[in-house]
Amino acid sequence: MSAYEAVIGLEVHVQLKTASKLFCSCPNHFGAEPNTHVCEVCAGLPGALPLPNHQAIHYAVLVGLATNCQINQRSVFARKNYFYPDLPSGYQISQFDLPLCEHGKITISVGGHDKDIGITRIHMENDAGKNIHGDNASSVDLNRAGTPLVEIVSEPDMRSAEEAVSYLKTLYGIVTYLGVCDGNMEEGSFRCDANVSIRPAGSTTLGTRTELKNVNSFRNVQRAIEVEIARQQDLLEDGECVVQETRLYDAERNITQAMRSKEEAHDYRYFPDPDLLPVTISDREMEAWRQEIPELPKARLARFVTLTGLPEPEAEILVQNKDLADFFEEAAGLANARKVANFIIGPMSREANAQGLALTPHNWSMTAANLAELVNVVDKGSISNKIANDIFGDLLRTGESPQSYIESHKLAQISDASALEGLVDEVIKANPKEAEALSAGKTKLVGFFVGQIMRASKGKANPALVNDLLKQKLKF
Ligand code: ADP
Ligand code: MG
Ligand code: ZN
Repeated sequence: MSAYEAVIGLEVHVQLKTASKLFCSCPNHFGAEPNTHVCEVCAGLPGALPLPNHQAIHYAVLVGLATNCQINQRSVFARKNYFYPDLPSGYQISQFDLPLCEHGKITISVGGHDKDIGITRIHMENDAGKNIHGDNASSVDLNRAGTPLVEIVSEPDMRSAEEAVSYLKTLYGIVTYLGVCDGNMEEGSFRCDANVSIRPAGSTTLGTRTELKNVNSFRNVQRAIEVEIARQQDLLEDGECVVQETRLYDAERNITQAMRSKEEAHDYRYFPDPDLLPVTISDREMEAWRQEIPELPKARLARFVTLTGLPEPEAEILVQNKDLADFFEEAAGLANARKVANFIIGPMSREANAQGLALTPHNWSMTAANLAELVNVVDKGSISNKIANDIFGDLLRTGESPQSYIESHKLAQISDASALEGLVDEVIKANPKEAEALSAGKTKLVGFFVGQIMRASKGKANPALVNDLLKQKLKF
């Protein structure tokens, strides 16, 4: 990619976690029996009138504030007309000329460098239903029709797949910390279209872009953008042109495929929806909502770096998920923060990876108090760090108190000289030549003896005490 530079802009759709849909009182709920959460409004029956959900507007404003946007206290819903079986009304209610939020930015971090990415606009819209294609027939499920969405459109400010993924993760952190989105990417609660173009390095004009539709995991966004950049580069190097079109990413084959030619805004014949008044937000609401913005991941990360002394990329693991960050913070209030963090970054992450689970405390029974107790029993010398790591998986799954687990499994460290003496004698007796050499001053052998004794005690001997006993007995 030396001769070319990639340019990427993202459109992210975020489902808002309201109780009801955007323009009717049907439940906003994933996974119900098809077509059980449908009324005249979300089925698009003629004459049914939409009524905006104020909570959705509130949530959308929070997203705008947290991404440093200008909030338009008067914005307008517009009809975006197109025909598709999952859209019975024949138009989506969106915003066009006067969106709710504009001119924002968020800061991403790639390889330790901060970079601002512009947010062009954030507008509200309702989701369509879902087509389900069977072998012989296709059917439509309208449960999702009318789900409140915000669409967050970025400036074409990203220059690599890594930057795009960092942008997405940053945005994901913001909407989940705000509590306006459940963050469930498998269920489509946070999904993204990636616009990708390339241009000769150093050029300031934009190349022709393609749009990759609905890529639904961070990993696939990364891979889809990478293969699309490579495809466009091959085209240009062969003297061909990139065609502006919508493409689909096929994760199994790791390729992008043309889906349809790109529509332009005029194809949608946008016009203000005559059924809806402009959205207005009072100064009082603005003030109250501003106060609701919680500490966001970036600020929390800075605090955790100070608290733990960990480098930023490691501390980042702690803040990516708000529940995990809360869990860490609670435990860190009860035990050494750095050591608490180490258990989360080490054995807890490993366990999550091994089980293919997200790194969030909800996947296990261990409480923050349990984790703090584990750190404290290691600090007190009741068990070694190694044993703590060995039993971590059990503690995670069972939620058992570390103290009682250690007692019931007889794991407590042996710090009683009389209890260890026998073991030390045995090991000395079994290794007479080494014992003689150590007595004669070959202190390199201390490690050998400590290792043998630790093994004989199944890791439970207090290493400092073992050292003392060896010194006493072998007089080195
Ligand atoms: P549309 O709905 O037609 O896709 P939007 O304005 O909603 O248009 O979104 C366009 C997105 O594409 C924005 O994120 C923008 O930054 C990005 N974009 C525009 N031109 C380019 C380009 N040449 N290369 C890469 N991204 C681009
Ligand atoms: Mg688009
Ligand atoms: Zn409805």
